[in-house]
Amino acid sequence: MEQIRDPGTLLNQIMAAAEKAGAKNIRVKGDIQWDGKNVPIIKILFRSKPENPRVLLSAGIHGDEPAGPHSVLSLLHSSKPSPFFSLLQEINLDLLPLINPSGFEKNTRENTDKIDLNREFAKGHPAFEVRLLMDDLRHKRYDLSVEFHEDIDARGFYLYEHFPDMKDPFAPSIISRLEEEGLTILKDPIIEGMPAQNGIIHPGKGRKRSFFRRHGWPMAIYMFRHGTPRTITLETPTMAPLDERVRMHRLALETALENLTQSMKK
Ligand SMILES: [Zn+2]
Repeated sequence: MEQIRDPGTLLNQIMAAAEKAGAKNIRVKGDIQWDGKNVPIIKILFRSKPENPRVLLSAGIHGDEPAGPHSVLSLLHSSKPSPFFSLLQEINLDLLPLINPSGFEKNTRENTDKIDLNREFAKGHPAFEVRLLMDDLRHKRYDLSVEFHEDIDARGFYLYEHFPDMKDPFAPSIISRLEEEGLTILKDPIIEGMPAQNGIIHPGKGRKRSFFRRHGWPMAIYMFRHGTPRTITLETPTMAPLDERVRMHRLALETALENLTQSMKK
């Protein structure tokens, strides 16, 4: 797919695809303004049966990680019946396709005010984008939160799975699925300063609470503290072609959702 550089253009395409795909609702959470531009933060709702599991999918909190929002567009564009659309019948999905539109436009990790939004979730006065998210997410409990990220230095795919009870991990099947498809996994024993195994990091292990207190909370920790029992953060290698990174995100998400719907049936 061709890379879109303008956040408004990308969001318009995502909203059009979401509407066509049968989204129940598209909500504007607030408008981000910079350099005379005005781009909304939107949340898209897909609903099946109310008793089905609830999932939050978010992308684009770091502006220089374009594969996330592009993967959202690719998922919504996939022709029915695709694995994603069949899975949509079994879950209730809340989708945040682009959390940091100003950073996306500037191709920077931070927003236009040079703030890393993924370190703002414990602050009393967080950046505006994060305040919108916190107001929205504070009273919601999901069964699973999946975040699309990228890593500029990584030579392969890896992921974080945060689930304190450590029972029935989803990560190993995600890694196997990507390997079956011939995609490269980063197998370093230490990734981002944390112990990793076969491309999997458990953030609870080896990193103390004081780390997050010092460096600021990422969204994953906020979600956990507000009742979401499992968060999966996917990291694709920015140096791989965009199509490959989109495939990685799509396959990883689909595998995570398959795991979730299976585990709810047990
Ligand atoms: Zn990131």
